[in-house]
Amino acid sequence: MKYALVTGGSRGIGREISLTLAEMGYNLILNYRGNDEKAAEAKALIEATGRSCDLLKFDVADLSAVKDVLGSWIDENSDKCIEVLVNNAGIRDDELMIFMSDDQWSSVLDTSLGGFFNVTRLLLKGMLINKYGRVVNIVSLSGIKGLPGQVNYSAAKAGVIGATKALAQEVAKKKITVNAVAPGFIKTDMTADINEKDYKAHIPLRRFGTPKEVAHVVGFLASENASYITGEVISVNGGLYT
Ligand code: NAP
Repeated sequence: MKYALVTGGSRGIGREISLTLAEMGYNLILNYRGNDEKAAEAKALIEATGRSCDLLKFDVADLSAVKDVLGSWIDENSDKCIEVLVNNAGIRDDELMIFMSDDQWSSVLDTSLGGFFNVTRLLLKGMLINKYGRVVNIVSLSGIKGLPGQVNYSAAKAGVIGATKALAQEVAKKKITVNAVAPGFIKTDMTADINEKDYKAHIPLRRFGTPKEVAHVVGFLASENASYITGEVISVNGGLYT
């Protein structure tokens, strides 16, 4: 039985990634933070593909909650191996740096960068023993070029890109690949406050992307077909680089 864990898998990009992995034959462990209704909806969609879906509710930024909930799942399912980990949970809380509060800085860093560390470290042992693994980190165009108003978010995502490249080199000899996918503007709740009409003229493909367009790339990186790709960052942004 193959298992995949997607953090922030209940809505938006994470939900689409979870569905793609289920369609690839993975049973899902779907993490979310608070919205039980959306998590139940995602679970039903995954189960409709014929795969199982365990909902694990915890805040990826909270190390003791990660150890408690995810650590317990791992202990109770020692016969099952999580082959694929997608670190997708992330938040934005935009503000010019001069006005940014301590909490705006730390909550965004703790979720994307801290969440990556807290969750990945727990799963690495199983992948190393199994001599196979796929880690895919969802970063952002903001972490590559930096965006004004997003010093916290750009720093968090740039941090995950650095961690992706370093970890890729640590675990490659055990046939574990670590890559990142960097979306541009994708239509989800996270971008609901951004008017596509105001931005699309700057995007060569003249539109926002869909969660499925990100999920296809994650599915490829999570597959055996991507066996010689590691430490990479693949952009999914409609050509928006500058
Ligand atoms: P979204 O629609 O806001 O969904 C966020 C998901 O993450 C939800 O399932 C949410 O769970 C979960 N989540 C948030 N904080 C969490 C935490 N601390 N612990 C566990 N789960 C948490 O976001 P999205 O647009 O799909 O974004 C997904 C990822 O793509 C993020 O890392 C984001 O930074 C990145 N990204 C998005 C875009 C874009 O244009 N949308 C662009 C570049 C990068 P609840 O529902 O329970 O709150």
